[in-house]
Amino acid sequence: MSGALRLQGQGNGSQGYAIGPAHVPSEPRSPIEGGASPSLEFDLLRSAIEEAVSALKDLMVRTDPPSSDILEFQVEMLRDPVIGDMAAEYIGEGQNAALAWVTALEEYIAGFELSEDDDIRARAVDVIDIRDRVLRILEGRPPANFPRGAVFAGRDMAPSLFLAHDWSGGGGIALAAGSTASHVALLARAKGVPMVVGLGGPAIEPEAPVLVDGGTGLVVVHPSGADIAMAAMGEKPTPGIPARFELPSADRPAGRLEILVNISDIAEIHSLDSNVCDGIGLLRTEFLLSAAADLANEEKQFQLYVEMLDWAAGKPVTIRLFDLGGDKPLGGFGVEERNPFLGLRGIRLLLAMPAMLRIQVRALLRAAALGPLKVLLPMVTFPGEVDQTRRIFEDEAASLVQRHIDVGVPDIGVMVEVPAAAIMLDTFESSDFFSLGTNDLAQYLTACARDNASVANLYGQANPVLLRLIAQTVRIAHDMDKPIGICGDLAGNPALLPSLIASGIRQISVAPSQLPAVKAVLAQARMEG
Ligand code: PEP
Ligand code: MG
Repeated sequence: MSGALRLQGQGNGSQGYAIGPAHVPSEPRSPIEGGASPSLEFDLLRSAIEEAVSALKDLMVRTDPPSSDILEFQVEMLRDPVIGDMAAEYIGEGQNAALAWVTALEEYIAGFELSEDDDIRARAVDVIDIRDRVLRILEGRPPANFPRGAVFAGRDMAPSLFLAHDWSGGGGIALAAGSTASHVALLARAKGVPMVVGLGGPAIEPEAPVLVDGGTGLVVVHPSGADIAMAAMGEKPTPGIPARFELPSADRPAGRLEILVNISDIAEIHSLDSNVCDGIGLLRTEFLLSAAADLANEEKQFQLYVEMLDWAAGKPVTIRLFDLGGDKPLGGFGVEERNPFLGLRGIRLLLAMPAMLRIQVRALLRAAALGPLKVLLPMVTFPGEVDQTRRIFEDEAASLVQRHIDVGVPDIGVMVEVPAAAIMLDTFESSDFFSLGTNDLAQYLTACARDNASVANLYGQANPVLLRLIAQTVRIAHDMDKPIGICGDLAGNPALLPSLIASGIRQISVAPSQLPAVKAVLAQARMEG
């Protein structure tokens, strides 16, 4: 007898297994991490400013007099009580330290940049420099983490913790609760991290060796050699990705099926050749940020978007605005809600906190000058939200142009993931294109939270209702003469592809890990057609 404890849950579909010592978080974690309090955010900002001041003072003693004057000016700016008071006010309104700091400095910077006087205009760069110096300090806050190679054995896991962890040393996830439709499951699938959800009890003891099989959903505590050999036998080799294929001719009245990829992690593009797809159909920007301070970092966001455009080499890159809220809070930001999936999420949160939106809009407008970039709005319910967002794009474009900065005009499209928007699609004339977000559409249609294991069975039965609504939505979009595609996980289910194609879908966007199976099925269909 090995003394092994076998627990059966649901695998997240990642091929393969992991073995490692259990890391049991000391507090049962909720997937929803509350933001830090305003007083903590204010303390963070104050200490970041003090750190910046002392770094500048150190520099002053080591530089020549002209440079020292510039540094002196920067110290004065950092100590300006007006800026401090403004930042405190923004923190009081619910912004995190970084966003409040950048917002407070924004007007100053624009004031310098727009001045007629050359000397004053030249000072803008000094203010930008202190803005970024404080931002960098705020970004340096170490994220919560656990040892490399361990199996995270908690109740649930926040996406931000998954993203902060270094998975290069292996390891897996075994959750008492959770769901395979949650965002953390989606990230784990994309990264190939074995994960099992819905294990219930009993609790796994800390440091116990644990085997997690992401394919079968089996978790074994204290596994025997035979258990490990069994898991290894179940591993399937990953098929290669054929570069291109055409739809079978009978299914091809409106041309070929475009297959794009969903990107949630910059590492995904590093291991994928852009020739195997038709571009990026969904960039989940909220997952590219490593710290809450990145929300305020226009330059960092701009660089990331340019990297995506470079990778896509002329193919379209569809970038979704931050879809925060729900199960994706970013530490120290936003408000805590009782029903976060039904609250300030996606575009609702952005419009409620426009300072954050404006920073991302500027980064997008600048990147759009460099390639075919499209913008996708998450969690839209009514057309007014598109109009409001469009006005912010127009506003920011005008002020960038005034500052002689190149901008592009991106198409703006709607994620169709709230039933009200799907049913009333014909009222969205102001949207340039549509993308069906079936992961959320399923949760709102079935009234089952996508991260709740106890209703996962009902959530999993959503396909027929989704397919009926998709057919209806695609018809409306075609009548409006607007492009429509699918970027939810449903598009990566090869068994459903014929139904999607029959309803008129000609564009799908799937996780890179789903590409081989989707392409294989279509190639097969072609052979038989
Ligand atoms: C969706 O909701 O279907 C979607 C693609 O977006 P996310 O999974 O990030 O919510
Ligand atoms: Mg969604």
